[in-house]
Amino acid sequence: MPEKSTITGAWKTALTQLDTASKSMILPDDIHQLLRNFDRILTVSVPVQMDDGFLRVFTGFRVQHNAARGPYKGGVRYHPELTIDDLKALAMEMTWKCSLAGVPFGGAKGGVVCNPKTLSGRELERLTRRYTYAIMPVIGVEKDIPAPDVNTNEQTMAWMMDTYSMNSGYCSPGIVTGKPINVGGSLGRTDATGLGIALTITNAMKHKKMNLKGLKVVIQGYGNVGSAVGKFLSETGCRIIAVSSSKGGIYNPKGLSHDALMKHYQEQGSFVHFHRAESITNESLLELPCDVLVPAAMGNQITKQNADKIKAKMVVEGANGPTTTAADQILAERKIPVVPDILANAGGVIVSYFEWAQDAQCYFWCEHEVNTRLKNLLYRSYENVLGVSQEKGVNLRTAAMILAVQKVADAISVRGLSP
Ligand code: NAD
Repeated sequence: MPEKSTITGAWKTALTQLDTASKSMILPDDIHQLLRNFDRILTVSVPVQMDDGFLRVFTGFRVQHNAARGPYKGGVRYHPELTIDDLKALAMEMTWKCSLAGVPFGGAKGGVVCNPKTLSGRELERLTRRYTYAIMPVIGVEKDIPAPDVNTNEQTMAWMMDTYSMNSGYCSPGIVTGKPINVGGSLGRTDATGLGIALTITNAMKHKKMNLKGLKVVIQGYGNVGSAVGKFLSETGCRIIAVSSSKGGIYNPKGLSHDALMKHYQEQGSFVHFHRAESITNESLLELPCDVLVPAAMGNQITKQNADKIKAKMVVEGANGPTTTAADQILAERKIPVVPDILANAGGVIVSYFEWAQDAQCYFWCEHEVNTRLKNLLYRSYENVLGVSQEKGVNLRTAAMILAVQKVADAISVRGLSP
């Protein structure tokens, strides 16, 4: 296939993961080809009036992979290096993540090529509103439901929800998830991804008959996801021995206090010079001896350059796509299990689904109910993946992919083609 030679990075990894899973399952060639492609890729121009009065034109995208199982679902990312190929990988991953968790959505992802750190609050608001207006023809409560991702947050979602509602002529809270609570957000959504990762580590340790108390955990990227993992694991008695941000990391084999870390970060904007800890680089953080390594920053962090230096007993993927295909193979050969992103970090999209369901009912659940349902779904997913992994003799990622792809393929088959 001529396209293959030009495919690189996250998109190549996503396609390889699909192709690898297809070899361990019965996937008809035509459906395999359909799944390697996209339902829709929309590029929009986003003109924004800047604070200095000049007009600047940004580029935005919405990539929709597959909606055989339900409306498209996926985040909105603001990043200066955003590419369609990255969004394709992320959208495809959303299809598998929703399918594996049993959430009735398909996969999508979108965003705007911009550096939000150089934009004022008013500029960000205008950019968000114009981007929402531009993608309005392809989104909708039962069509495609955006959510926050890197550099977007609940305020971004409130602007998107308002823009969509004002242009529709009625209030439409279910158009996005990850909204503030007072406009239809769900309790438990903010910490859902981190809680889900902590619950997945709990499930994994139960199977390994390992105690959580004293478990040594390293977390790369102590942001929304990483810090929530740290908070929940600290509460269960785990020892967080190293954390980092883009400015570097810190290490103390005796453990770091989550509350003290958060206080330090709020005051200093980094973890550098945290008391009673050694400063380390992000590269060396990944190579520390520990029980569990949680990469929770960006994609492509564990590569063929460092995979043979990883000393963790298990890797649990908090970020999307932190391990390359080559690194996956090296870790498998070294018998270091990798709990894949589509299983480990599904907590966010699961609670997003709960938020969408609550918005549809106009009836809101207490946090205990949200977390209990999340716990049950993740437990079931973990057991299913482990079962397929043991039955077919494949690693956890391939097992998760087999389960996820099968459900989407079955939905495509039973629906048939129309028109
Ligand atoms: P965030 O921006 O809140 O946190 C990211 C953290 O990583 C920050 O501390 C940042 O300083 C750090 N970082 C950035 N580059 C780094 C590098 N090269 N080395 C070390 N640290 C670095 O983002 P987030 O919402 O926590 O998302 C983190 C990852 O989790 C992303 O890959 C995202 O796609 C994925 N994810 C997020 C959610 C969610 O609900 N937020 C859900 C699923 C997956």
